[in-house]
Amino acid sequence: MRLPALFVSHGAPTIAVEDVSETRAWAALAKELPRPREILVISAHWDTPEPTVSTVAQPETIHDFYGFPPQLYEVRYPAPGAPALAGRVAKQLGTAGLACGIDAGRGLDHGAWVPLKWMYPDADIPVTQLSVQSRKGARHHHALGSALARLRDDDVLILGSGGIVHNLRELEWHMRGQGEPIEWARSFNDWIAARVNAGDVEALIDYRNRAPSASRSHPTEEHFDPFFTAMGAGGFPARRIELGFDLGSLGMDAYVFGLTSRG
Ligand code: ZN
Repeated sequence: MRLPALFVSHGAPTIAVEDVSETRAWAALAKELPRPREILVISAHWDTPEPTVSTVAQPETIHDFYGFPPQLYEVRYPAPGAPALAGRVAKQLGTAGLACGIDAGRGLDHGAWVPLKWMYPDADIPVTQLSVQSRKGARHHHALGSALARLRDDDVLILGSGGIVHNLRELEWHMRGQGEPIEWARSFNDWIAARVNAGDVEALIDYRNRAPSASRSHPTEEHFDPFFTAMGAGGFPARRIELGFDLGSLGMDAYVFGLTSRG
């Protein structure tokens, strides 16, 4: 079975140490898939002007967040790097006319290690990261994914990590752990799910013009960009893993692109 490409909503960093429905769903998904030989993460938390891939041999665990409990800063994800995969990523993007830079020192940010810690807790699969370009839009990120789709033939898991609805100014802290969303967030989330179900690539890429509450759901685009890279890499049919909301408007859904439902 060919690996699909995934998009996960990584939520707040505290999910790294919480056994909740999202983390259980990620773990179950990893168990359901063939074991990847290598992993390429496209994280919202590495945003560069041009595509850049990390060639580091042993990535450090980057704690790129502030004001959280001390135990979060002690989490390590000591997976080996994947410099050979990084080389293939840069080459394939270059062939597609998407020049890709190299960063020899970049480690794993929490967009990568939070889901990976639950999916592959042994940290024994080589992993590297590709950056997003938050000013280049959905079509660019979809093209990145399309250019990388062939990596799936080599048992590479392409994992986009961001947020399906993500507006930190609109979080409702009294709604912690509650699944019931605020209406505007729900309407955006439902629209995305319906368009994915229809395989409507053009509508999804044009979401800022077509989706309800699009700019409210993503005032900046970096947390949604990895969704399009996963979609471009995995294609359709796609399966939604419905995981609701945290804090009123933080959408947590995951998507599996390129694998039919197992029923
Ligand atoms: Zn984030």
